[in-house]
Amino acid sequence: MRNAAFITAIVVFLGAGLAWIWWPDEPDEERPMGERIVKSDAEWRQVLTDKQFQVTRQAGTERAWTGEYAKCHQDGVYTCVCCGQPLFDSKTKFESGTGWPSFYEPAVDKNVVKKKEGILPWAPTEVLCSRCDAHLGHVFNDAPSQPTGLRYCINSAALKLVERGSETSEKE
Ligand code: FE
Repeated sequence: MRNAAFITAIVVFLGAGLAWIWWPDEPDEERPMGERIVKSDAEWRQVLTDKQFQVTRQAGTERAWTGEYAKCHQDGVYTCVCCGQPLFDSKTKFESGTGWPSFYEPAVDKNVVKKKEGILPWAPTEVLCSRCDAHLGHVFNDAPSQPTGLRYCINSAALKLVERGSETSEKE
């Protein structure tokens, strides 16, 4: 009987440990509550196209080379298509050959949240807008020719390019 209790305790302990390890990461950035934008899916559908909704609110991925910014070289600031928060600067955009807009760093670090999709070393890291939780894409460390070595692989459908200086973080 003592053995059974001991084994049960071990199983419970290991189970709790595994649950703790596998529990999805919370975004690790501190985010002031007042700046958060939270909307229902129905509300998001009113302001987004189907493609934008699928990518940003359902973590979808547009097909390579189909996004409007894949080959874009225009100067400006890429803002969140959902909430208007500035995310990436065209000056950090580079040709990755992947078919998705690629940047080597965010325009403002705190505007972009990174979230590991699991504990395995090769698990991808999701990139989200810190203000409205829009799924933007993923970040990889496979760009050694870039200043940071990082490649933020972002869906065009999650972005809106605006003229430098006219970006706003006040869009509702
Ligand atoms: Fe946003």
